[in-house]
Parts: sequence; structure tokens; C-alpha cells
Amino acid sequence: MNTVGVRSCYDEGKRLAETLMMDYHRQNKVDTRIARIFNTYGPRMLENDGRVVSNFIVQALRGDRITIYGTGEQTRSFCYVDDLIEGLICLMNVDEVHDPVNLGNPSEFTIKELADEVGRSCGVPIELEYLPLPQDDPQQRRPDSARAEKLLGWSLKIPLREGLRRTVEYFSRRLVRPESEKTSAS
Ligand code: UDP
Repeated sequence: MNTVGVRSCYDEGKRLAETLMMDYHRQNKVDTRIARIFNTYGPRMLENDGRVVSNFIVQALRGDRITIYGTGEQTRSFCYVDDLIEGLICLMNVDEVHDPVNLGNPSEFTIKELADEVGRSCGVPIELEYLPLPQDDPQQRRPDSARAEKLLGWSLKIPLREGLRRTVEYFSRRLVRPESEKTSAS
């Protein structure tokens, strides 16, 4: 781990939070849970959030070029928000699970594959623009969800294609303002 890079406050912050949770549990008998949330997406993301799913959908819907950082061969595993929330609720309701539990999609996609899938979901041809990879950008990120499956009986229900369809629908409504709003604002 790089402890002093531009992303390090994020990585180290999460690790420290887990350590503190366990200490509170051991020392003060607080009934804690630790969920490790992997790349999650869905309606109500901010359009300028900067995450890959919202960036790609907004770019595709606006007819802008899709910005791929690096080669696009790096992988991520995308979890639809409803699945994540269900996992969090299951984790809260189960007894005596204090060690970290991964909540995420065990199947991974390359960023290039995601771009193609977003183009398909938006029903538009996409044009790619390759930009430099940010510092310390992981090449691969895929959760082992075996513990969540075993301890919580939790597994993913919404496949990427369906989750993207719902997310594209949300952004389409947000980005295309109704005529009435346009005239009153101008
Ligand atoms: N990414 C990209 N284009 C974008 C935004 C992100 O290629 O417009 C890449 C980013 O470099 C990373 C992956 O997509 O490899 C996931 O990025 P995100 O910020 O969504 O999540 P994280 O890096 O925290 O997994």
C-alpha cells in the first residue's frame, strides 16, 4: 500500500475505521458490523460524481466522448445499489459477525467492456477518448463474496445490464429537463 499518495487518505481512512470498529467492539462491547462496499452504482448518483458508471452514462447521453483512463483493461466489479442495501440490512440483522464482510459483485468487467455496455444501454454509438491513468489506480478489484453468501445468505440479484438500464433511465430523466422548466427558468 502507498500510504502517502493522492488516494492514500481514502484507503488508509477505511482501514483505520475498521481497526477502530473492532477496538470499540472488543473494549466497549459495542455491537458493530464491518461492511466492505465495492464499486456500487445506481439511480441518484450525482452526474458530476466522477465515478466511472455515472461519467460514462452522462457522456453517452450527452453525445460526448467516453473518457477511458489508461488502457481500459483494468477491471472493476459493479454492484447495483438495491443489492448493496439488501446486503447491509442482512448484515445488520445477523448476530455475532464482527469481522469484515465483503459486499460486492464477484464477477468483474474491464472498463472497456463497461463502456461498450453503457453504449448499448443508452442505445447510442460511443466514441472513446483515452486519458492518463490516475496514480495508484488498481488494475483489478474483485470481491470474494463467499463470506456474505455463507453468513448472510446474500448474493447479487440485479445483473449489470439490468442495473445499467435502470440507471440510464434515471439519468435520461435528469438530463432532459421538461419544456415547462426550461421556459420558466429562462
Ligand atoms: N475511470 C475511467 N473513466 C472515468 C472514470 C473512471 O476510465 O471517466 C476508471 C478509473 O480509472 C478506474 C475505474 O474506472 O480504473 C473505476 O473508477 P471509479 O472512480 O468509479 O472507482 P474506483 O477507482 O474507486 O474503483
